[in-house]
Amino acid sequence: MDRLTDNFGRQITYLRLAVTDRCNLRCQYCMPAHGIDIVDRKELLTFKEMYRITRVLSELGVNKVRLTGGEPFVRKDFVSFLEMLSFNDKLDEINITTNGALISKHLSKLEELKIETINLSIDSLSKENFAKITRRDVFDEVYRTLEALEKSSLKLKLNAVVQSGVNTHEIIDFIELTKHKNIEVRFIEEMPFNGVGQRTTTEVWNYTKILNLIKSHYKEITPLQSDRSSTSHNFKIDNYKGSFGIIPAFTRTICNDCNRIRITATGMFKNCLFDEGVFNIRDFIREGASNDELKQLFLSTVKKKPENGFIAEANRKKNKKVSESMSTIGG
Ligand code: SAM
Repeated sequence: MDRLTDNFGRQITYLRLAVTDRCNLRCQYCMPAHGIDIVDRKELLTFKEMYRITRVLSELGVNKVRLTGGEPFVRKDFVSFLEMLSFNDKLDEINITTNGALISKHLSKLEELKIETINLSIDSLSKENFAKITRRDVFDEVYRTLEALEKSSLKLKLNAVVQSGVNTHEIIDFIELTKHKNIEVRFIEEMPFNGVGQRTTTEVWNYTKILNLIKSHYKEITPLQSDRSSTSHNFKIDNYKGSFGIIPAFTRTICNDCNRIRITATGMFKNCLFDEGVFNIRDFIREGASNDELKQLFLSTVKKKPENGFIAEANRKKNKKVSESMSTIGG
């Protein structure tokens, strides 16, 4: 079998697929209050196109898919798509990143499907602060979902973007959640782009600063062994049920073991979060490409995967600095 391998010997086994660019929240660090310029519906990949792309990639060694967006549950028939995707016997794992505001009614269905992990984005444990960050009043629903997920058969990870002066005072509260709950809390470095360009931050809360704060609070922290391609460095407070991790999304110290590619909701193929998209698969498919042609294209494009996110960013031609919202990129 041909396998997706880049010029640095990295095998690509993980696809992050954005199923929409629409979102029901307006997180301050992600987009402006009025939202981002969403594309016309017909520019979005259809679920059939997504299924086909995923199938072809899975025949080239991709065995794990993360569905993201925008907010995946905003897209009509998303759960039927999950059912369709669960039939792909070459996929070992289907995971979802969601803000959790729209999923409670789907939980039992999700448990029946091939969904392994739900990454729930929650940047604050305070209703008021949550509303300030997301510009929406849905904390109670999201927290109810968190508790329901914790009791479900699905694996739960919480994602919190660490925002200087906004939720940094809650880092320890998040860790305390892991005392009695068997969940993984992951702190993500904020990336200074939000759909309109650079976001200015007064203080940089990078990996080291986050870890130092936690270390100053707890004596007994044990590093955990993580998968080589894991984006987070993981730890546990001794005798706590759950664990925590830090994702150096912006300092980019994780690129050496990258096994990921991304496809945006409009079908743009990305070798790296920081590149500006390598080619549009949607157009290629709609012009009549065969599965073999698609395979050749994937194999040759992955070869050009940049060594790391800094090189990917330096290679950008249009906007030198990343300014797209993660809702467009597919977070
Ligand atoms: N709507 C879903 C959600 O909220 O999880 C999926 C899409 S969202 C863009 C995916 C993840 O990207 C979320 O955890 C979000 O917090 C994160 N994100 C968005 N903008 C970011 C930024 N500028 N820096 C770091 N993380 C960001």
